[in-house]
Amino acid sequence: EQFASLARDHIRAIEDWPEPGVTFRDITPLLADPAGLAGTVDALAGIAATWGPIDKVVGIEARGFVLAPPVAMRLGAGFVPVRKAGKLPAAVESRTYDLEYGSATVEIHRDAIVTGERVLVLDDVLATGGTLSAARDLVTGLGGRVVGQLVLVELAPLGGRARLGTQTPTAALVTY
Ligand code: IMP
Repeated sequence: EQFASLARDHIRAIEDWPEPGVTFRDITPLLADPAGLAGTVDALAGIAATWGPIDKVVGIEARGFVLAPPVAMRLGAGFVPVRKAGKLPAAVESRTYDLEYGSATVEIHRDAIVTGERVLVLDDVLATGGTLSAARDLVTGLGGRVVGQLVLVELAPLGGRARLGTQTPTAALVTY
């Protein structure tokens, strides 16, 4: 499709960043391009709309914060941040998950999701799936119903889809 090739042209690969052996997919050139930014938001909102009504869009720090608010506005939904530990000021739920080396903790405000709300979880990149599944667990722990998991880029060899399972729909605009 037309947007997919535009996206591929504007997402750049940075070799050996943030550490040797890793290829980092950098979406900033895509977002800097006016057609790229509008096309990204349109494509994400278009997929999310096929999953039915959405009350809240959860964006994951930091690049999920860039994508989630414009997508939420298109869907008539609210925006809820999932942040790294220690950043949210009010009462939080926390979830710790394993990274390749060590672990990470993400948090959500306890009152950010109301029981029964339909929630879209959005991030820039799906790699191993640890981040997205931790965010999903935070939402379901508050009684929210995750209706879909959506990313701009999926790094398929890292196996994120298998980790996320098939119970909730998962979609990516571009897959490597
Ligand atoms: P996961 O938890 O292993 O799925 O990693 C996903 C998280 O790491 C997301 O929040 C991404 O922002 C970040 N990430 C991992 N790899 C990349 C990449 O190549 N480009 C941009 N972000 C990445």
